[in-house]
Order: sequence, then structure tokens, then C-alpha cells
Amino acid sequence: MRKVVGVGSGAGGASAAIELSKKGYEVTILEAGKPFKPFTRLMTLTEPLKRLGLLGNETNIMRIFPHMNVARSSNKLVVVRGITQGGCTAISCGNMVRAEHGLKEIGLDLTPEFEAIENQTEITPVPKSRWRPLTQKMFESAEELNLNPSPTPKAVEFHKCTSCGLCEMGCHTGARWDSGKLLDVALENGAILHTSSRVQKVLTRNNQVYGVSVKTGKSNKVYPADVVVLAAGGVGTAQILKESDIYCEDKLWVDIVLTLGGISKNSNQLREPPMAWYSSQKDYILSPYIDILSHYFHKPWRDVSLKNRVGIMVKLADVENGSVLADGTIEKEVSNTDETKLDKAILKAKNIMEISGVSGPFVKGMYNGGHLGGTVPLKRKDISSMRSSELPDGLWIADLSLAPQSQGLPTMMLASALAMRVSKKIIEYGS
Ligand SMILES: Cc1cc2nc3c(=O)[nH]c(=O)nc-3n(C[C@H](O)[C@H](O)[C@H](O)COP(=O)(O)OP(=O)(O)OC[C@H]3O[C@@H](n4cnc5c(N)ncnc54)[C@H](O)[C@@H]3O)c2cc1C
Ligand code: SF4
Repeated sequence: MRKVVGVGSGAGGASAAIELSKKGYEVTILEAGKPFKPFTRLMTLTEPLKRLGLLGNETNIMRIFPHMNVARSSNKLVVVRGITQGGCTAISCGNMVRAEHGLKEIGLDLTPEFEAIENQTEITPVPKSRWRPLTQKMFESAEELNLNPSPTPKAVEFHKCTSCGLCEMGCHTGARWDSGKLLDVALENGAILHTSSRVQKVLTRNNQVYGVSVKTGKSNKVYPADVVVLAAGGVGTAQILKESDIYCEDKLWVDIVLTLGGISKNSNQLREPPMAWYSSQKDYILSPYIDILSHYFHKPWRDVSLKNRVGIMVKLADVENGSVLADGTIEKEVSNTDETKLDKAILKAKNIMEISGVSGPFVKGMYNGGHLGGTVPLKRKDISSMRSSELPDGLWIADLSLAPQSQGLPTMMLASALAMRVSKKIIEYGS
């Protein structure tokens, strides 16, 4: 039986683990984070501290909710990751759509994998009965503006959902899907999961992988493997590759999110599943959303209470210009092209809010990005094998790092679909 070490338990890692364990591979999953626990304290308790500006900067969210990793990649931009069992899926909004920008251009058609995911996951739009009245009004305004909004497909079991609005702090009712559901099946198939196991390097000899090393205190533990599947996300995978002196590109994209905030008395927008509808434009989406990071940590948003705050997010497919260093530092700027596109999209968000009776001052939130990809981008020549020939034998990448272009769309399904296709190739090649 072939020994596989999978690195990361998010969308990509869990999908690969399930596919390979099903075929009898001996799979060990190494996950840097701890088992996931949703945030259950009352957010409103922190409102007075927020108003006084005593919460400090955005990195302080890691003190109250350590699974959410926040790092500044430039003066303007913050990168958000889930470092925990389930990765970013554990802190996602549960939006499930096909994102495939840049794939046809390189000859990659993931339709069979998307179909398989859609068949095995319960995906339904947020019922309109759960929308706040203002969300409904903004939907109608977006329709008036010919922005073609539609209810967002969600991997949420709505009979369990309490409309707490805090999907990104983890779902306390288990209503929202995360990759833990896939991991459970992989474990039933015989896979083994080690949490708190941060992989440092991929180990190679004569261009052949023979394992990975994990730092434990002052020493390094070696996990031997015939096959290593890196699925530590766009940043984690790049960091491991850089640390191991293996090929990786400085083309990180993050799908920049910028939320425009306005005011509507007692609108209570947080009391619904986030992003109840979305309007998909060429490079971005617009969606109703209260940005928790901006609400608590962004000075221009400080003086408005949660019950009166209204937001519409722009999620933009950004320029692929970021890099990750071997020590994990992320360097990524908001480019002029991104700024120009964001300005246009933010104007549309403002139009929607104004027509819906939302008042100003309209303030931009914190620039942040949590869809991390592009650091080992697939090229046309890689599609038949689903791996770059620059990688040592036995090393595979199975996460969003493979997606060559930013999406401006939810990306869990894409990460999973890529990992499923890669797993098929691992099996086909008998690696
Ligand atoms: C706040 C937030 C909300 C989101 N909401 C949505 C949404 O609603 N819908 C959607 O489609 N997408 C959403 N996304 C994006 C989506 O979750 C990610 O694009 C997707 O999960 C990426 O999958 P991945 O496998 O590439 O990485 P991840 O899911 O991030 O998994 C990477 C895993 O690797 C682990 N890891 C990192 N470094 C190491 C290491 N050195 N050793 C071992 N393990 C390591 C991490 O802890 C993590 O578990 C959201 C993202 C964020 C941040
Ligand atoms: S809004 Fe619903 S799905 Fe989201 S965290 Fe709350 S209960 Fe879970």
C-alpha cells in the first residue's frame, strides 16, 4: 500500500484525503492548526470597547478567536486564513458556486468534479423568509439597476440555522458545511489525522520525495512517505515550497474584499445568513455583508452600532502580484488596476444602498482577502498530469495554489474540484 502524507485539512486537503483513502492508500494528514471550535461568546459585549477604540488593530481578533489568522501584507491589505482543522472552510460563509476563471484558457474543464460536489453536498439558496427587509429592498434595487442579483447558493442546512450571521466565526449549530464532513469519511476509510503538526519542509533525495518534516519543540519529526500531497492553501503551500527550495511562483492572488458601510436604523443586517444574494459582474461580485473585521477594528467604521450598520461587499478578482517568503511573510499590494476596478464597483454598491434608503456617511471598510491561490499555477502543458514538471517526483499540489487566476467568486468548490482531479491523477499514475 502506498504511503501518502497529506498536508492541510481544508477544502483541498480533505478532498484529496477522501479520494485517496477510498482507493486504499495509507493516508496521514498533517494539519498545522488545532481542532476547530466555533466562537460562542456574545460579540455585542465588545461593542463598548470598540466604540472607545480599545480593541486595537485587526490582529487582536486572533486573541479571542485563534483559528482566524490575520496578517498585514501591505499598508492597505490584510490577508485572512483559517489555521485549524478544516482550514478556511471552517470560517467560511458556506457560499458554494462554480468558479472557473482562467481554466478554459489552459484547457482544464472541471465540470465532472463540480457535478460530483454538487451531487454529494446539499446546496440551496438562502430562503427569502430569512432575509432582513433591507436585504430584500437592496436586492430589488440591484434588479432596478440591471445588476441581475440572485439568491446565493449555500451549503447550509437551513433547518439547523439560527440566522446568527456569524458564519465566519464558525457555525455553532453545525448547519453550515465545512471540510470536516469530508475528513470524517476519510478517517472512517482509515486515514489518520494529526493536528498541531505544522509541516516545515518537503524532504527529497535525487529529485524524489521521501517524506516531510514537522517541527516539534526543538527537534524535527520526519514523516516518511512515497507520495506527499501539499494542500496547505495558497500561502501555506508556498511557504513550505520556499522553505524546501522547490519551485513556486510569486503570483499570489487573494480576491480582495472591500465592504462599503452605510447606516439604516435598526436594520439588524447581521441577523441573517451573510451574503444572502449576490450580483456577479465581470471581475467581481456585490453582496450584502457586514464585515466583522471592519466593524470591530477599522476606525472609520467605529461610531456606528451593529444594529444600524449596513454593508455591501465587493469581492474583486485581483492582480496576481503577491509573494510568500520562507518565513511565512506575505507581500501583496493593492495594485492601481485593482483600485480602479474597486472604485467603480463601490459606486454600484453605493447606488444600491442609496436607492434602498440607506444613509451615509458611506465609509469603505478594511481591504482584506481570504481566497488564497496562484502560487503554483497550472499551465496548459501541466493539464494531462495535473502537476508541474518542476516538482520533484512524488510531490503533488492539491489546493487553490493551482488556480492560475483570481476569481472574485467563492472558491471552496474550486479548491475541492482541483484536489479531486489531482487525486485521480495520483491514482492513475500509481504514484
Ligand atoms: C473568512 C473566509 C470566508 C470564506 N468564505 C467562503 C465561502 O463562503 N465560500 C467559498 O467558496 N469560499 C470561501 N472562502 C474561501 C475558501 O474557504 C478557500 O478558498 C478554500 O478553503 C481554499 O482551500 P485550500 O485547500 O486551498 O486551503 P484551506 O482551506 O485554507 O486549507 C489549508 C489548510 O492547511 C493548513 N496548513 C497551513 N500551513 C500548514 C503547514 N505548514 N503544515 C500543515 N498544515 C498547514 C491550514 O491550517 C488549513 O487547514 C472563505 C475564506 C475566508 C478566509
Ligand atoms: S448564520 Fe446559520 S449557518 Fe451561519 S453560523 Fe449562524 S447558524 Fe450557522
